[in-house]
Amino acid sequence: MLRRTLRKVGEALARWPVAQQLRGTPLGEAALTARTRSLHSRLHDVRTVASVCPYCAVGCGTLVHVRNDEVIDIEGNPESPINQGTLCPKGADTFQYTVNPDRLTTALHRRPYGTTWEPVDLEWAMRRIAHLVRETRDRTFIDRDDAGRIVRHTPAIGFLGGAALDNEENYLIKKLCVGAGIVFVENQARI
Ligand code: SF4
Repeated sequence: MLRRTLRKVGEALARWPVAQQLRGTPLGEAALTARTRSLHSRLHDVRTVASVCPYCAVGCGTLVHVRNDEVIDIEGNPESPINQGTLCPKGADTFQYTVNPDRLTTALHRRPYGTTWEPVDLEWAMRRIAHLVRETRDRTFIDRDDAGRIVRHTPAIGFLGGAALDNEENYLIKKLCVGAGIVFVENQARI
């Protein structure tokens, strides 16, 4: 009994911060109790990934915070030389753009005279678009204008680009459109 009491007293003394410091344990370590050691930030299991806002060509830097492979927050990256941590209202809302039960995750198609949108396979949708572009282009292609000048274009198709497209994408889109005779090419940023 006495031996057990002495052992407990010895253990308690060994945990005493002063005794720990005398044994050479750094002050900060010595002052930590077992409970303090078990405490941690509520963000300790959060992974942060640097990314870029997808909304426009300014390309503001963002920090995407992820827990268990799920995005829990997105904020401006203070180390980005472009925005230095700030975001415009659109960029500040990219979290709800990413995590949103209403977000579309499949291609949708509304049949001619249909009243509802139906989920369709993306491959099918791409083929459908390619078929309609080709069919419309061939049906409406104008080789010469009323004055007999060669124009070789279709007035029936237009292309509207997005502000998040980069230089290389815009270059390829312009090449594709001009090659197909599509001359109405515009960008959402100018509207
Ligand atoms: S939409 Fe706003 S936050 Fe996003 S890149 Fe453009 S300016 Fe930056």
